[in-house]
Amino acid sequence: MNRTVTGLPKEAAKTRRIVRELEHVLGMPVPPQKKSPPLDILIATILSQNTNDINSHRAYSNLRKQYPTWESVRLARKSSIVSAIRTGGMANQKAANIQDVLETLAEKFGSLNLRLLSKQSDEEIIDFLISLKGVGKKTAACVLLFSLGRDIFPVDTHVHRICNRLGLVHNCNTPEKTFDAMKAILPRGKAYSLHINLIRFGRKICRSANPLCGICPLYKECEYPGRTQYRKTTPAAEDSKVDFMLLEQV
Ligand code: SF4
Repeated sequence: MNRTVTGLPKEAAKTRRIVRELEHVLGMPVPPQKKSPPLDILIATILSQNTNDINSHRAYSNLRKQYPTWESVRLARKSSIVSAIRTGGMANQKAANIQDVLETLAEKFGSLNLRLLSKQSDEEIIDFLISLKGVGKKTAACVLLFSLGRDIFPVDTHVHRICNRLGLVHNCNTPEKTFDAMKAILPRGKAYSLHINLIRFGRKICRSANPLCGICPLYKECEYPGRTQYRKTTPAAEDSKVDFMLLEQV
């Protein structure tokens, strides 16, 4: 890893600049005061896999409405859980994974509660969570960040794409590899800010198809080979329907 004159790896210094720039243009994301219990976040994140926010939110709300306790989800017929979460897609697989997770927790702890995790280290929690069926590093990292308030940076496919385009990581061909590489270069205390702002940035500017490179505030930092081409095809800022102030409401 190349080092800058300050002694930081080049990528760590660049990550700091990008965190600052995104906070400048998109605002400083503030974590909610009241955090949801870890098991709620775990199940909500399983439901969010391979679908959009609206559909996964509908699936989660529907599940909670029909089954207000996790114990009732564990004991329900799988087909009833499948219909409750159908709007989230891949309902068969997600229902099976959710019931398997709940069954494992009941056997292991005798109750459906993950609060015990709060006494463990980040690594111990991740190792435990990824041992559960259908739980990968991104899902585990979401539990750490959003429920336990740890400084852990979840990497989904969108965050993975942008970190690679910007050149924060190199030769990372999976979100898991990007997650591991980002751990070494993330400025302390900035996991929440960078995660939220990269999700916003990926929705509005650095989209998977047709990124708006022509109005991108990170253009000078970017190493994506297609950026010069996309710059030419980006609509003018006034036509691109991008309003950074609106992003604060996302
Ligand atoms: S220049 Fe284009 S590819 Fe690079 S970060 Fe900006 S929008 Fe994404």
